[in-house]
Amino acid sequence: MSEPVYRVPFVADAAAGAGWVPALRAAMPELRIAPLREFSDAELAQCEVAIVANPSPADLRRMPRLKWVQSVWAGVERLVADLSDAGDAELRIVRLVDPQLAETMAEAVLAWTLYLHRDMPAYARQQQARQWRPIEYVKPRDKTVGLLGLGALGDEAAKRLQSAGFRVEGWSRSLKSLPGVLAHSGEEGLSALLGHAEILVCLLPLTPETRGLLNETTFARMKPNASLINFARGAIVDDEALRRALDAGRLGHAVLDVFAVEPLPEDSWHWHHPAVTVLPHISGPTDRGTASAIVAANIRTFRVSGKIPPHVHRERGY
Ligand code: NAP
Repeated sequence: MSEPVYRVPFVADAAAGAGWVPALRAAMPELRIAPLREFSDAELAQCEVAIVANPSPADLRRMPRLKWVQSVWAGVERLVADLSDAGDAELRIVRLVDPQLAETMAEAVLAWTLYLHRDMPAYARQQQARQWRPIEYVKPRDKTVGLLGLGALGDEAAKRLQSAGFRVEGWSRSLKSLPGVLAHSGEEGLSALLGHAEILVCLLPLTPETRGLLNETTFARMKPNASLINFARGAIVDDEALRRALDAGRLGHAVLDVFAVEPLPEDSWHWHHPAVTVLPHISGPTDRGTASAIVAANIRTFRVSGKIPPHVHRERGY
């Protein structure tokens, strides 16, 4: 007798979902993967797992037996908030943890760290003004890069930065032990890291605790003329405080890949600020091929063992 069909709906908004279904089907040919609309209510009533990209809670509620959702994104703050608002505290959220994503992000961290380290923004400004003015060179081993967040992405970024010769310090909720990294946690640890870093790189999740974490107070604790790279989420930075710190010359430069509103509105101050580099959320793009293979492995493990992969701690928000 042939096995019953195991159905896994893909639940996404139009913008987020494009291109995923073929990649997911290629990774899991034994399953029936299709957009939610292609399943009947009777079929949805049997589904235990769904793959999601910005799903609406109402769509998820059409699956009363749903045990967990697999996000194709690493950042799930919107899904956590939407499900909490909808009063759905039980559903497990599994986010994407993909070594390829960590590698891509680590490459971006290194690229823009070098951009700041070798004073490229300053030389670009000097060229505009036809100024021939060498800036004194400082070796990477005499510069500290501070990583906010030492999770899947921060850990890989730390390795890449160290192999390029930088001193690396990191901050996380629980104190980490990573080779060669001076690790910090807690409020005091944050102050220490801010006081040491020439370049601060944000790789934190957006949660109630990290929203607005980089603000007037934290900027004031940073080294004069230090720079910021935000590759995490826009709302972790208090934008107006950042603007004041840059205008006052307290901070040297900000490389921003993420913003509170995306796409960044045309009339935003960031576009034309001389001390800001704007990137269109490109530091860590998801690779649909490697991500689909990871989603497939998670779903296969669940089918064999009934084990839900490590999931988001709903109260902590990540
Ligand atoms: P992760 O594995 O969950 O790591 C998060 C890190 O942040 C952990 O080290 C965690 O500490 C720390 N952390 C969380 N809350 C904290 C707090 N209140 N105080 C101190 N440390 C705290 O996440 P990830 O996979 O590295 O991803 C990080 C974020 O990157 C995602 O949430 C997403 O928003 C963003 N992202 C951006 C892009 C892009 O293209 N720009 C792409 C992918 C992801 P513990 O280790 O103690 O738990």
